[in-house]
Amino acid sequence: MHNETLRPESTPAGLADFSPVIAAPATHNEGTLLDKYGRRITYVRLSITDRCDFRCTYCMAEEMTFLPRDEVMSLEECLRVASVFVGLGVNKLRITGGEPLVRKDIMWLIERLGALPGLDNLVLTTNGSQLDRFAAPLRAAKVKRINISLDTLRPDRFKKITRIGDLGKVLSGIEAARQAGFTRTKLNTVMMRGVNDDEFVDLVRFAVANQLDLSFIEEMPLGAINGRNNTFITSEETRAQLSEHFELIPSTESSGGPARYWRIPGSESRIGFISPHSHNFCDTCNRVRITAKGELYPCLGQNDASNLLPVLRAGNDDAVRQMIIDSMGIKPFGHDFTQQMDAPHVVRFMSMTGG
Ligand code: SAM
Ligand code: SF4
Repeated sequence: MHNETLRPESTPAGLADFSPVIAAPATHNEGTLLDKYGRRITYVRLSITDRCDFRCTYCMAEEMTFLPRDEVMSLEECLRVASVFVGLGVNKLRITGGEPLVRKDIMWLIERLGALPGLDNLVLTTNGSQLDRFAAPLRAAKVKRINISLDTLRPDRFKKITRIGDLGKVLSGIEAARQAGFTRTKLNTVMMRGVNDDEFVDLVRFAVANQLDLSFIEEMPLGAINGRNNTFITSEETRAQLSEHFELIPSTESSGGPARYWRIPGSESRIGFISPHSHNFCDTCNRVRITAKGELYPCLGQNDASNLLPVLRAGNDDAVRQMIIDSMGIKPFGHDFTQQMDAPHVVRFMSMTGG
């Protein structure tokens, strides 16, 4: 369904002044998206930019070439693709990137996504650098929860890992999210031996003190970055380290993602582990990813994709819908991260596919 009421992104009046908003999908076909293994796809991660104000060493090369603007989906195209997915029964959408909050006029998109009937769970992953100015409008636009990346609490180390980032800005962003009324905000920490493994206990203490959840992530071989073999740490090893300082009680809770959670008695915080290597979670995978250039990747860890952009640009949302349904046929059973960390068979950086 192509909604004729949407206006192009380049309207001189400015996106923020737009109305009316996109109409509801004609039908909400709960559970339409099934892959060939019978997994229901209800969760989409939508990357709205490949650009970022940081250059994290595990995510990007030092010198990155970013997409030319005309190869990136317009905000209108992002909204159309999201509403087609919602019409196919998707009820959770994560906005990501690159850094989503550096995308110009991001709130135009978020406000419209927040009003999409059938989309129960609009969430965002951010590096936190822009949250001090965006937390309140995001909350007002019905974003349910925010994930914030935080690999260290030391300013000098933060600068080293992100190559440019300012820890102070991120910490004020975390505080702004709290003041805006966000709850269950989750920190994401990529575990790296010799880089931040001496801070895991401090990061847990920080999460507990600030009523945040925290997930530790095993580094994935996405994009050619040297040294991953040396820095890789399993979730098991980190959990053993944390167990010496905290009582960790296994929990059956889920946030709808791949993390497995532990609780610390007396604290609201959940400590999660995302373990694509040591605890493959593919059998319950419920998600697909859309890159900033409109490619649909059914699996983060494989190279098969469908290019939605030409069909989107032809203006035919029925054809987009059909292409999405057909793409479920190429969703593989799982990723293959077991190969050498320094010679990945997925050459896309995480910032390109969207984390
Ligand atoms: N810029 C935002 C941020 O940093 O949260 C959103 C995009 S970022 C690509 C999403 C998540 O992917 C972040 O939590 C980041 O730490 C994680 N990430 C990036 N590269 C990774 C890798 N090679 N292995 C594991 N996690 C990675
Ligand atoms: Fe940017 Fe996020 Fe990648 Fe860091 S992890 S470079 S903040 S996209």
